Amino acid sequence: MLGSRDFHKIIENGLIKASKELTLEYDPDGIHVSEITRCSRLSYFERVDPFEDESSNALQNILKGSVKKLLNGKTREYKVDDLRIYASIDLMVSKDMVVNLIPVSKLPEYPHPNDLLYANACLFIFESQGVFIVYFTPDGKFVEFSVSESKRMFEQVVRRARILHLLLKEKKTPVVEPSELCFSCKYYQRCFGQQKEPEHLLDILGIGKKK
Ligand code: SF4
Repeated sequence: MLGSRDFHKIIENGLIKASKELTLEYDPDGIHVSEITRCSRLSYFERVDPFEDESSNALQNILKGSVKKLLNGKTREYKVDDLRIYASIDLMVSKDMVVNLIPVSKLPEYPHPNDLLYANACLFIFESQGVFIVYFTPDGKFVEFSVSESKRMFEQVVRRARILHLLLKEKKTPVVEPSELCFSCKYYQRCFGQQKEPEHLLDILGIGKKK
């Protein structure tokens, strides 16, 4: 009987299941670079007490995971003392040129700082000469940015990985990292739950309305 079934829910559950199968498994003694080039508090919640995935997140994961699988993307590990740091690339064009693909609705003029931090870490972890960030739209347009090596940026990634690893071990929630990403974050209520309006966050970001 088709009539009484909730097709929307059935499809949503199917998408969430497919997304989970494509999502990276967490190593308790390792941190993936993607966890520290975004808000560490978000990454902590995702490991310790995640919300059930939503279909919009699931679709993004499926898109990203499928592209990586189709293009034979790779994940590599970098050891710093007892900590393992992982990075994944979507496409290895040659031994010295790797590419990260990022779906967007509009091509940007400049790469996002988080994507730069991630790509720079790939340069070190894959010991590559060149890393490109490629933003692409659903209609097939793309723009690429090459990334120059920065030891300082990589040290920042290692430092943030160490801190997140320690906080996870000690079960201590990282502090709030206010940014424009908070507005679309699924943990917004956990971080700013008491605030009825997002104006409090606008104030923190220094872009609140002048009174
Ligand atoms: S709302 Fe902001 S601070 Fe809180 S987890 Fe999300 S991104 Fe991080």
